[in-house]
Amino acid sequence: MQNPNFLIVGSGIAGLTAALFCAKQGKVLIVTKSTLLESSSRYAQAGVAAVRNFKWDSFEEHVADTLEAGCHDNDKRTVKFLVENAPKMVDWLEHKIGVKFQKEPTREAAHSHSRVWNTKDSTGEAIEKALAKKVRANKNIKILTQASLLDLIVEKKVCRGAWLRLNGNNEIFPVFANKIVLATGGYGQLFAKSTNPEVSVGDGIAAAARARAKLKDLEFIQFHPTALVGRQTRLTLLSESLRGEGAVLRNARGERFMPTYNKAGELAPRDIVSRAIFSEMKQGKVFLDFTRASEKFLSERFPLVWREVGKAGFNLAKDLIPIFPVAHYSCGGVVTNLRGETSVKNLLAVGEVAQTGLHGANRLASNSLAEALVFGKAVAEKLKSSEVQTVTIKAPKYFFDTKDDVAVRKIVQKTMWERVGIVRNTKDLREALNTFEKLEPRSFAAQNIVLVARLITKAALARKKSLGTHFLED
Ligand SMILES: Cc1cc2nc3c(=O)[nH]c(=O)nc-3n(C[C@H](O)[C@H](O)[C@H](O)COP(=O)(O)OP(=O)(O)OC[C@H]3O[C@@H](n4cnc5c(N)ncnc54)[C@H](O)[C@@H]3O)c2cc1C
Repeated sequence: MQNPNFLIVGSGIAGLTAALFCAKQGKVLIVTKSTLLESSSRYAQAGVAAVRNFKWDSFEEHVADTLEAGCHDNDKRTVKFLVENAPKMVDWLEHKIGVKFQKEPTREAAHSHSRVWNTKDSTGEAIEKALAKKVRANKNIKILTQASLLDLIVEKKVCRGAWLRLNGNNEIFPVFANKIVLATGGYGQLFAKSTNPEVSVGDGIAAAARARAKLKDLEFIQFHPTALVGRQTRLTLLSESLRGEGAVLRNARGERFMPTYNKAGELAPRDIVSRAIFSEMKQGKVFLDFTRASEKFLSERFPLVWREVGKAGFNLAKDLIPIFPVAHYSCGGVVTNLRGETSVKNLLAVGEVAQTGLHGANRLASNSLAEALVFGKAVAEKLKSSEVQTVTIKAPKYFFDTKDDVAVRKIVQKTMWERVGIVRNTKDLREALNTFEKLEPRSFAAQNIVLVARLITKAALARKKSLGTHFLED
């Protein structure tokens, strides 16, 4: 395979955006674990946060909302950079990529105004498909699907490329590049219940850790308050914009409980709403109630949710819908600056895998698609292509075994869910770490999962005080 100037690992909105901008500077290869579209990005419902109407909104308020949700643990420079650049990226999507947003933005929790740009409730899919179309048509971009990153090739502290593998094939091969961009997304699938797809197990974090890149804030895992109750691992999200448009939460006694937990009620930051639901669930089921809205409004405004709720046997306009909080978003990751540069030369990270300092201890809703877009462009800004240097290296030995992967994944998911979840305590965290340290995964994917679970649990143990999504009951 011809070595590209820029190797991009991952094809969510961050990877595809980075690919389009990098392709202006040189040859790009996108490597992605599943199909081109499969990613958390494609399941995003609500939209992209961006201030585009200054009559009722301002950059200052978007900055203030982001800091408030993040418990002021954010990097203010990054927040300002994101807020000021997000509108340009929404314009880019609309005018250059062909995404057709609704005329008016919607509102989500912890935003002081309606500023979430959407295509009803399948916004991620609309953006992902439109970007994929442009990527496929770009002569400077090659795509390798069903191929996984194993390890980064780092020589004398400089990243030169990556070891890759076609899924189901035991042969591995190196690809060298001027720059390697990690866009591998988050790790929600390390939990038994999550909104994330199967690919989101933190492979990029594991590879970056082995390459000794600086990682930060892995313990800040956002639980989305309202997933539709079900048995599967990837659960259907009931978008926050439902609450933004007037849905309320009720406990087993039918009482609306959120106003007693926070003055913002159902529109409080996600960590607060998730913990309130978790607490109410000790007394029984918790429900989303949007029975005040009409069938016409709900089926037209939230067609995806309407369909999914229907498939589960409920009518959104007539029934109370059983919900619970599930793992949703990884706020921490590989530390980067405003151009996506990591602590390892030539290694960049963008999107959910990165820790830019934007989210602090808890992400403000709809800031992550904005982040994937803004930083997807920023990583390419100062790039220059040059002749790709290859290095002679001995191929590492890997062992692949799907049975081991599945068995280990189950143990890790159960342990993370029960002991490293919404409400944590030191005893549980120690027991979780103990479980992970006793596991002896033989297979590569299983080793990755255990490594990331250990890193998260150690980070949670190291943070002695509750902050945002990291809540200690002891
Ligand atoms: C149900 C749901 C709803 C959401 N709604 C919103 C919303 O309304 N607004 C918002 O801002 N955010 C939302 N989010 C969060 C947002 O979708 C994600 O944070 C964002 O899409 C992440 O984009 P990404 O490109 O960084 O990662 P992803 O979209 O997750 O893409 C990661 C890519 O990396 C690939 N990959 C992973 N490991 C490897 C490997 N080893 N080798 C090769 N490829 C690999 C994957 O296959 C995938 O292509 C939502 C998330 C979910 C799950």
